[in-house]
Amino acid sequence: ASSLGSPACPEVEQSYIMIKPDGVQRGLVGEIISRFEKKGFSLKGLKLFRCPKDLAQEHYKDLKDKPFFPTLIDYITSGPVVCMVCILFTATYFVILSCKAWEGAGVVASARKLIGATNPLQAEPGTIRGDLAVQTGRNVVHGSDSPDNGKREIALWFKEGELCQWESVQTPWLVE
Ligand code: UDP
Ligand code: MG
Repeated sequence: ASSLGSPACPEVEQSYIMIKPDGVQRGLVGEIISRFEKKGFSLKGLKLFRCPKDLAQEHYKDLKDKPFFPTLIDYITSGPVVCMVCILFTATYFVILSCKAWEGAGVVASARKLIGATNPLQAEPGTIRGDLAVQTGRNVVHGSDSPDNGKREIALWFKEGELCQWESVQTPWLVE
């Protein structure tokens, strides 16, 4: 749990989730947010946003040498996206629970499982991409691939004042 910080000042793992322009155009915003809510994740940030090109390029900078990079940037900037920050529980609960059972039970990895494989034709039924999409280039949703990238992406897409600190009443019903 070294990466989680000291108990007095815990660092809660957060994932950056984004509904891509095809998800917005196809009317899947409610459906996709619902999947994360039903799992038990809490929203800490949420906005509809038209992504500028330089932000899309920065977000996907690890892919900049891939042949599909230009079309990926066109896709992500082709219409509004829905930006989200998802957490499993707040720092307050982290302290209350003293989090003995929570090492590695990360919101980032779990969100990736809910989202499914990059190619929707290979994504399992039951996942968002497996249920709602058919092509890699139109795979409706993004999710951070590591806690570090979660931090990086949240800092890119959200300003400090846009994130909301709140305690979800469901936390004691989600974790023992
Ligand atoms: N992508 C694409 N063609 C490819 C691979 C990826 O258009 O051959 C797009 C697709 O939208 C994907 C995004 O680039 O979601 C980022 O790729 P990554 O490998 O990081 O997949 P992800 O993490 O989104 O599953
Ligand atoms: Mg990725």
